[in-house]
Amino acid sequence: MVKDTPDNINDTETKSENQAPRATEVNEETVRKIAEHYRAIIELIGEDTDREGLLKTPVRAAKALVYATQGYRKNVSEIVNGAVFSHEGSRMIIVRDIEFYSFCEHHILPFFGTISIGYIPDGKIIGLSKVARIVDMFARRLQVQERLTEQVCSELRDILSAKGVIAHCTGQHLCMKMRGVEKQQSVTTTTDYNGIFATDPALRQEFYASL
Ligand SMILES: [Zn+2]
Repeated sequence: MVKDTPDNINDTETKSENQAPRATEVNEETVRKIAEHYRAIIELIGEDTDREGLLKTPVRAAKALVYATQGYRKNVSEIVNGAVFSHEGSRMIIVRDIEFYSFCEHHILPFFGTISIGYIPDGKIIGLSKVARIVDMFARRLQVQERLTEQVCSELRDILSAKGVIAHCTGQHLCMKMRGVEKQQSVTTTTDYNGIFATDPALRQEFYASL
């Protein structure tokens, strides 16, 4: 386990802007402070925080928020943890329909969906569950779907030195469904790719055809 000393926090910041901006440690004190803010918010919307059903809500909500934003406190090397293996093939590898749950950074309301990832290896492949954990690392933050798609794509390219990575993401945004325009059926899709996928439309077609 790598501890978040001030030294490697700085190191992390210079390595990649995909990393969490700050390796903020969450302890009981942080949960208590977040709960205090939730209590104030619940009062401000006109509720009675002493009502039985709400007594423990601030602390529960604080813990849920900490859990749902744990991506800020993850780092790629701990996640990958050596699960990169040599591989001679050069055919596309696709991991389809990885579920994710995230918060839109504009409204702090959930958005969720699936992301499918394809890559062309260049001597290295990664454990499949690690791909899902990398998606979680970027999803469990305040996000926009466009950036989530891009970050997963470019991080995988960095880790694998792959010839190219492509990602296709489909998301449903509660900020679209339960407020604002109230479009319950709307679905947002985002795509990103790099490397050989940028120069070879046939490879992009092969990926989309398999979705
Ligand atoms: Zn939103």
